[in-house]
Amino acid sequence: MKTAVVTGGASGIGLGIAQRLRGDGFHVAVLDLNPDEDDDLAYRADVTRPDEIAAALNAVRAKLGPVTVLVNAAGLEGFKRFQSIAFADWQRVLDVNLNGTFHCIQAVLPDMLDAGWGRIVNISSSSAHSGQPFMSHYVAAKSAINGLTKALALELGPSGITVNAVPPGFIDTPMLRKSEQARLLGGSVEDHIKRTPVRRIGTPQDIAATCAFLISEEAGYITGQIIGVNGGRNT
Ligand code: NAP
Repeated sequence: MKTAVVTGGASGIGLGIAQRLRGDGFHVAVLDLNPDEDDDLAYRADVTRPDEIAAALNAVRAKLGPVTVLVNAAGLEGFKRFQSIAFADWQRVLDVNLNGTFHCIQAVLPDMLDAGWGRIVNISSSSAHSGQPFMSHYVAAKSAINGLTKALALELGPSGITVNAVPPGFIDTPMLRKSEQARLLGGSVEDHIKRTPVRRIGTPQDIAATCAFLISEEAGYITGQIIGVNGGRNT
């Protein structure tokens, strides 16, 4: 049985991915800031802290063996007018979204290289495709994740490792609902559904299904791709 690590797996999209991969027969360890205490495969780790990632991964390896699947779903959004973004805000958003992805990939890569097989899926954002006002730090970080995905796919393909990104758009999670409550969505969820071609909000399961396919053996010829899952909001 293969071992997968899902960051941000205690909530929303990451939780949906962890549940799906468990259902598909993977051992799935979750790394999150506030892991579910009832889940004995959930570990507390801040993805901006290489020491915490290393400690969590050592515990995962001791229990489940080498990690050959990594889904980077931990993320932090930000809403501020560009001129109001303090450098500390900018750094924090890049740190969690982009640097966290860097640290986690570096930490699991030796296992994948040893195995001669690996799957990395980075959860970016449809905002990297369309742009988004008041989210320039977030959009910059998510765009960089797409670039990282493409570059790494070329570098790691010869080692049997695929690297893809899934940019979600408008998925029903605690992050999105908090933004709605804070009136940061530019309208209600219902308003957005009317503007979404498939006329519904996305679910964590929509993203999980795409990740599950990219991780499967039969997706081995797909790498360096940015697979939008957004109900047609970005084409
Ligand atoms: P969510 O429900 O807030 O889940 C994100 C998870 O990441 C939370 O459990 C959060 O923990 C965790 N996390 C945050 N900072 C972390 C850190 N430094 N170290 C470890 N874990 C950390 O949000 P979501 O909507 O599922 O988002 C998942 C991913 O999809 C994110 O990368 C997000 O940017 C991306 N995304 C979502 C949408 C959408 O429509 N929902 C659209 C585009 C992109 P805490 O809750 O304890 O902070």
